[in-house]
Amino acid sequence: MNKTYENLSSILEKTMALQTALVLFEWDNETLAPEESGSYTARVIGTLSEEYYGFMTGDEMGGAIAACEKESDLTEIQQAVLKGAKEAREELICIPKAEYRENAQLIAEAARVWFKAKKNEDYDSFLPTLEKVINYKRKVASYRKKEGEKLYDVLLAEYEKGFDTELLDEFFGRLKEEIIPLLKEIKENGKEIDDSFLTGGYPIEKQEEMARFLTEYIGFDFKKGVLSESAHPFTTNLHNHDVRITTSYHDKMDSSMFSVIHEGGHGLYELGIGDEITQTPVGQGTSMGMHESQSRFYENIIGRNPNFWIPLYDKLKELYPDKLNSVSIDQYMEAINKVDPGFIRTEADELTYSLHILIRYELEKMIMEEDVDLKKLPEIWADKYEEYLGIRPDQVSKGILQDIHWSQGLFGYFPSYALGNAFGAQLYFHMKKEMDFDQLLRDGKLDVIKEYLRSHIHQYGKMKTSREILKAATGEDFSPEYFIDYLKEKYRKIYGLS
Ligand code: ZN
Repeated sequence: MNKTYENLSSILEKTMALQTALVLFEWDNETLAPEESGSYTARVIGTLSEEYYGFMTGDEMGGAIAACEKESDLTEIQQAVLKGAKEAREELICIPKAEYRENAQLIAEAARVWFKAKKNEDYDSFLPTLEKVINYKRKVASYRKKEGEKLYDVLLAEYEKGFDTELLDEFFGRLKEEIIPLLKEIKENGKEIDDSFLTGGYPIEKQEEMARFLTEYIGFDFKKGVLSESAHPFTTNLHNHDVRITTSYHDKMDSSMFSVIHEGGHGLYELGIGDEITQTPVGQGTSMGMHESQSRFYENIIGRNPNFWIPLYDKLKELYPDKLNSVSIDQYMEAINKVDPGFIRTEADELTYSLHILIRYELEKMIMEEDVDLKKLPEIWADKYEEYLGIRPDQVSKGILQDIHWSQGLFGYFPSYALGNAFGAQLYFHMKKEMDFDQLLRDGKLDVIKEYLRSHIHQYGKMKTSREILKAATGEDFSPEYFIDYLKEKYRKIYGLS
């Protein structure tokens, strides 16, 4: 190996080790850590984060990167790692150390303030903290911003390179134009779907059995992965041989099934990263949007497809005979695809989900670009829900305080969820030309689908952007039209609209 690169590689190994430790603490906090460990572990996390910041921004790293940039014989992977390291360093080095530490404390505190405000239905008690977080994000964005660039665009690029407000305005504009009228038509002329049998009388042990079965069925390898339980399902990965997903169990039994398929999709992405790049700055899923495309692809395009359930429905009935013996597979399919506009994003159906994101996108733009009066946000939020979804939240816990994201400074993150839906639909449209997708599902051959996704998307990690991956896999640039066509075709059929 090139000596100069070897030096960079050994420094990077230290930063990766610190990051892995931080990820493991995060996982532990959400799953197994005892209640009173919080503030003690927070100090350990604080120290490790500072070490990470020190290594990434230090002279040793700077020198190693500069030396590598002079080398002309680096391989493609080495060049990608170098670029990834440089970007990770640039993102941190523009923030003064004291501000970086201050923000880490602010974010930790903000989560607690948010949680309490949500519990007490008290937006005003969260307002000063929210204002601080927003000011910090604005400041960081202004450090990174190039001449003429919008602050919100800088934040968006953190999660999805190649996407800015111009492109997203167009994307969300199309969703607004098409989904809102379709939803209205479903509510006015569509049939009533009964999904009451999905709730109540589903023992947790059986739900656990099904969750594990489905995770394995879609190809998640338990020799390199773990399934656990947490309040909110999530996925985390140490490297491509240790990926961890969680789920949670509720009265409504389809909730845990679809959350494990969703997190399983995230997990398969991380397990599919190439061995040559895992544990390097490019050894993870390329973007939030591409990640969500994989999880939603499994959850919705595969998991809510009738062909997926043809070989599985008998097993489900065997597991819950009292509940499902009198329910046909068609009734079951309609129930798990029911459109039901609600207040909570994480419980939304496939059709209305993107409208929840549209609302957050419009608000984030107002916050970052238009200096909106933050006191008015709960009302603007409620107005938009009324306009787009036809329902008006009267509690902030079901409105603006429902998501943790803004307390954590994650502005620019939400659009990725909707982009993921659209990426997935574009990939799906293309894959159907290359394989008999429905037949593969009926035959339970999910390995063929997983292999396709691995070779076209997963293996590259961050070596390509989401737009580059889409272009290479489907032959064209990102387009929202596939997602719109997919929704229209699917839901017009389910709801018997001509
Ligand atoms: Zn997800």
